[in-house]
Amino acid sequence: MAVILSDAQKQELAQIAKKIVASGRGILAADESSGTMGKRLDTINVENVEENRRQYRTLLMTSDSGAMSEAIGGVILFHETLYQKDDAGVYLRDHLKNRGIVIGIKVDKGVVKLLGTKDETTTQGLDGLGERCAQYKADGCDFAKWRCVLKITDSTPSQLAIDENANVLARYASICQQNGIVPIVEPEILPDGNHTLERCQEVTEKVLAACYKALSDHHVYMEGTLLKPNMVTAGHDCQTKYTPEQVAIATVTALRRTVPPAMPGVTFLSGGQSETSATVHLNAINRVDALKPWALSFSYGRALQASVLKAWQGKAANFQDGKKAFLHRARMNSLAAQGKYESSMEEAGSADAQSLHVANHQY
Ligand code: 13P
Repeated sequence: MAVILSDAQKQELAQIAKKIVASGRGILAADESSGTMGKRLDTINVENVEENRRQYRTLLMTSDSGAMSEAIGGVILFHETLYQKDDAGVYLRDHLKNRGIVIGIKVDKGVVKLLGTKDETTTQGLDGLGERCAQYKADGCDFAKWRCVLKITDSTPSQLAIDENANVLARYASICQQNGIVPIVEPEILPDGNHTLERCQEVTEKVLAACYKALSDHHVYMEGTLLKPNMVTAGHDCQTKYTPEQVAIATVTALRRTVPPAMPGVTFLSGGQSETSATVHLNAINRVDALKPWALSFSYGRALQASVLKAWQGKAANFQDGKKAFLHRARMNSLAAQGKYESSMEEAGSADAQSLHVANHQY
């Protein structure tokens, strides 16, 4: 007997996916592994211990309920955070639930090198994934993230890396869906390098086309998924500078050529762009005059948290300032996801124009 999703399972998955990106909402990616969180805390000289990570994530998850749920439809957590409580003993995840925000979880186990390639990678974590998804679903999670990484050089991404990453994303997606979890499919093409906008568009199209072929081959239910791609941008070291409108047209063109309309939402990663660039680009994308059959929103990590960390500085006395910085960025990005953002909406000194690029970024 073929294993298939029932109509009720499909309906549940489609509803979860739609809810996350409804009405200009996007995702807060707060799923930095403990090591990656250490790098973030380093920037404000805060020690990377569980208690500090708990304090910081409490700050984020207990932000003003109305303002947070208007802009944020889902939050991706790291395993540790799913089981942490605030000072009053309330699970952080319950604060999200009470705000009507969908709880997500990072389920991949990081990248590993592919033999014989030029430092290309695949992502591991399929072993035991079904059991982990079932447990996470029981503990309140309704969506998941799995990040694959591709690199642009003169000779990469190789066909092997494109095919392997597409296939592993499809296997992950199919396992999630069998457990009632909406998979975010994330084939991130790194911004490292000096490639042009055109080269990034060409590679993005090849990668996305391969992903959707694999998802189809694996019988993944398209309406019950989300896509988390890179925006099409020139490499970090490219000498040519492109306008937000050029980035937006290249991004929307690549998506229109490769992503099925049945897929409900594109939630871009910020990929080391500054907070302001990530917002300006998202806004320009939503203003492109072309048929765009999906929600075009955000799933930002660095671009939603850089000014929060700066405002917080690891001090309880700065909790309110940190929350204010977070809600401001969340609102700006939610407006950008509707094409309604204007730079005059930034409070003086609030937005951060500093690049958040990290070479060969890990998550
Ligand atoms: P950035 O927005 O910091 O790129 O991270 C998003 C993310 O979740 C990458 O997997």
